[in-house]
Amino acid sequence: MQFEKARDRAEQLRNELNYHSHKYYVEDSPEIEDYEYDMLQRELAAIEKEYPELITPDSPTQRVGGSAEGMFEPVVHAVPLESLQDAFGIEEVRAFDSRIKAMFPDAEYVVEPKIDGLSVALEYENGVFVRGSTRGDGNVGEDVTANLRTVNSIPLRLKKDVTIEVRGEVYMPKAVFASLVEEQEQNGEKAFKNPRNAAAGSLRQKNPKITASRSLDIFVFNIQRYEGTEITGHKQSIDFLKSLGFKTIPFYNKFSGIDGVVSELERIGILRPTLPFDIDGAVIKTDSFAQRAEIGSTAKFPRWALAFKYPPEEKETTVVDIEVAVGRTGVLTPTAVFEPVLLAGSTVSRATLHNQDFIDEKDIRLGDRVVIRKAGDIIPEVIKVVSHAENSVKFSLPSVCPSCSAAVIREEGEAAVRCVNPECPAQLLRNLIHFCSRDAMDIEGMGDAVLEKLVSNGLLSRPSEIYTLKKEDFMTLEGFKDKSSENLVAAIENSKKNDLANLVFALGIRHVGQKAGKLLAEHFGSMEKIMNADITQLTEIEGFGGIMAKSVADFFALEQSRREIEALSAYGVNMLSLKEKIDNRFEGKVFVLTGTLPTYSRNEASEIIEKFGGKTASSVSKKTSYVLAGEEAGSKLVKAQSLGVTIIDEEEFNRMIK
Ligand code: NAD
Repeated sequence: MQFEKARDRAEQLRNELNYHSHKYYVEDSPEIEDYEYDMLQRELAAIEKEYPELITPDSPTQRVGGSAEGMFEPVVHAVPLESLQDAFGIEEVRAFDSRIKAMFPDAEYVVEPKIDGLSVALEYENGVFVRGSTRGDGNVGEDVTANLRTVNSIPLRLKKDVTIEVRGEVYMPKAVFASLVEEQEQNGEKAFKNPRNAAAGSLRQKNPKITASRSLDIFVFNIQRYEGTEITGHKQSIDFLKSLGFKTIPFYNKFSGIDGVVSELERIGILRPTLPFDIDGAVIKTDSFAQRAEIGSTAKFPRWALAFKYPPEEKETTVVDIEVAVGRTGVLTPTAVFEPVLLAGSTVSRATLHNQDFIDEKDIRLGDRVVIRKAGDIIPEVIKVVSHAENSVKFSLPSVCPSCSAAVIREEGEAAVRCVNPECPAQLLRNLIHFCSRDAMDIEGMGDAVLEKLVSNGLLSRPSEIYTLKKEDFMTLEGFKDKSSENLVAAIENSKKNDLANLVFALGIRHVGQKAGKLLAEHFGSMEKIMNADITQLTEIEGFGGIMAKSVADFFALEQSRREIEALSAYGVNMLSLKEKIDNRFEGKVFVLTGTLPTYSRNEASEIIEKFGGKTASSVSKKTSYVLAGEEAGSKLVKAQSLGVTIIDEEEFNRMIK
């Protein structure tokens, strides 16, 4: 290549690689396949080899990827966490062997799976786990001790009181990854691309509880620092780590000849799809520590090890259908159905198309020839379209919900299209569970199992119907007796008195949590007013953003939502904010107004009485608590006197409401 051309291309590659490196290591959200990234990096390395003067200090070929982002305390690694030189073919493996054997004809190798996770250093003092950090750029990582403590397979105390630093790979098991991605897509969140990004994203969380919920695991594969009995080789060191209680790399067989290494690489490659964790290659390591010291390292990686990467398996197939399903959170998810093909160990006939953006970006249509592969070797995905079928048209998600036919919405900045109809059968059970939950309508006894039975017996098809349930309905359910049925009916009845804030939250309006429910209830005072508020009025509430306002307006714009509120109100569910009438001093009291009061009109006086929880009546009876009498009071006053009802004037009334 000409120098000028090489210079320009190198610059372009550097920029591209740095961009993708940031996406990958800092944002945990890569845009291109690892294989593609590696190929770009190789191209740059080849140019730099031809023209060494083009090597810049910030070239991606010169440094270990990753960075300590400043979210956590930095940790300077006492022993750097090096990267590995990679190989994409068996010839490269044999060339590596020749270099080593030229120095040490008796060299032996250990072959291990290359776990696709993220590297961490774990430090133990006298057998106690004291600190854990990410690799970062190899020299400086991030202190993620609190998060690492939540990884159950990391021993907090070793079997021996040794002071040691080890290195391991934190990873997310395939099954955990698959269910996390499903959950994220259901919630309309951005899903992790592969288990490595999922593990990195989960470990670099400010809240260790989130990390704990992600079921991360670890394989320890190296001693970084240890001042103890002499260990002379790699295999011996893993055995030692195992004896300390670490969960070590699952296989680490030793070979003296390169042929043994090659067949081990093949064996691991065949095992790959069946392993419960994701691997992206196998690592070949010179066993003897003395030989390693002689062979040495470059600035970036050791010369005594090699990472053999398995090429991603890809297949071509035809899209025979695109199904759209609505999940329990209302998100519409498109799935491509293919002509079945065998891919990385299993028959594949479906792949999620995520959302409309993904479909648009790749322009996936019905009848397309497409290339598929398994992301992180687990989840089938469409990589690209090879060709469109004749006369095909762009594919769009439907504008109505496939389950209930209500209009679907797409929020600004959101990839997901969703159905927000509270009556949508696809979301019913989830909505009911939320409706009855403690922070919502708090109906004790109406848990998941009971609700599920009520739905499957056809007794419930929307939340408002909870208020039509009778004792006999519960008696038809297995395990329900007189007393338990009565208790549930009483709990339902009791919930009618709940504050408006609980009801608003219970409706499950997207983006409206407990706090927002309270804000709405307190600001508007009644369901009627909330329902009729427009976006401007909603955004006027302090603490209420545009997204929330739009979500509330969208919800109440649906006829089904209004119908549901009407029904709830008809069944006697409270639609007013209790905050407004928190002072219930007139509860149970009945007032009768007569004559003209000096300052209040009749309406004003009635409003005050109601605000304090009292009632007004038009005629005097034994049930009357007070007669509030003004000038020219007539027959009502006489009747009150005859019945012995307390008569008060405005002055007295004012004293009572002070
Ligand atoms: P690497 O992943 O190729 O290899 C080194 C890492 O392997 C070590 O840090 C260690 O954590 C891990 N490892 C797992 N099992 C091991 C074992 N048994 N023994 C030793 N190490 C083991 O190198 P890297 O520098 O961490 O990252 C480069 C990788 O990141 C490449 O695969 C590259 O494709 C990918 N990447 C992708 C993008 C993208 O946009 N897709 C961007 C940047 C980097």
